[in-house]
Amino acid sequence: MAISFDTNHKPVIGKAEQLEDDLAVITADNASPMTFTGTRTYILGTENLIVIDPGPDSNAHLSSIMEYIGNRKVTDILLTHSHIDHSPLSRQLKNETGASIIGFGSADEARTTFMKKLSSSLDLGGEEGIDKNVTLDEKVIDKQVLERNNYNIEVIHTPGHLSNHICLAVKEKKALFSGDHVMGWATTLISPPDGDLGSFMRSLEKLSEREELIYYPGHGKPLREPKKMVLAQIAHRQDREIQILSSISKNSKTPSEIVDDVYIDLNPMLKTAAVRNVLAHLIDLYEREKVSVDKFAITAKFVKVI
Ligand SMILES: [Zn+2]
Repeated sequence: MAISFDTNHKPVIGKAEQLEDDLAVITADNASPMTFTGTRTYILGTENLIVIDPGPDSNAHLSSIMEYIGNRKVTDILLTHSHIDHSPLSRQLKNETGASIIGFGSADEARTTFMKKLSSSLDLGGEEGIDKNVTLDEKVIDKQVLERNNYNIEVIHTPGHLSNHICLAVKEKKALFSGDHVMGWATTLISPPDGDLGSFMRSLEKLSEREELIYYPGHGKPLREPKKMVLAQIAHRQDREIQILSSISKNSKTPSEIVDDVYIDLNPMLKTAAVRNVLAHLIDLYEREKVSVDKFAITAKFVKVI
């Protein structure tokens, strides 16, 4: 069954939209083919507030956030991950409010041993969009529960899109802030060495065992049937793997040739991202000894299916 995405989304840019009594979202002015309608900054609480993913370095976005906050206190700034469309505004927001910045760690904090070895021995390209200046006041770990302003917020480490990616589950709301891990408008970019497909699949499995009723993603609309989407994304990546293996078995190919072969009706602006995704699959298949490669480089031809 093909995965179905909902790309009909017309958020108000730069003005808070109330999603629940104690939850608002402000969409940043950074729409693009990679960020969809713009980064979604969530503000949780009614008196003391928690800001999740302040967004890109944008004065306009900062003003919108400050306007919504008004005289209220911001206690914490939570980061799902350190990409430039999510975390940079945390610094200015901290200056304005004095809130602590909380996240998992540096971008390569949780790279797997295999990926570390691979990326230290050859240039995999990638590393696009990392916020290199991210500074945290507090580092969290998997399964940690943050008790803040009457909420219990569980940290779920979900590497894959980026090794420091976390999802945040608010127990009282049966809601999960899914960052860029699971979104409803597209699958996430997995660009090695920061992106890791094996980790991504394990992170999806982790979410598939949970019972939250709604996901609030970093881009696009809330997901009201989140488990269905998590399972569909697992199936989608498994289908993609089969397509890639069959493409290689016909004739050895580079990642770019595989994209031309398996991505039908691809928006040309997304070709680079698709090549990165295919490379992520190939590295995962290589790690699992399902494909061999002539000489590992970004332009390598994957020679055969084992
Ligand atoms: Zn991201």
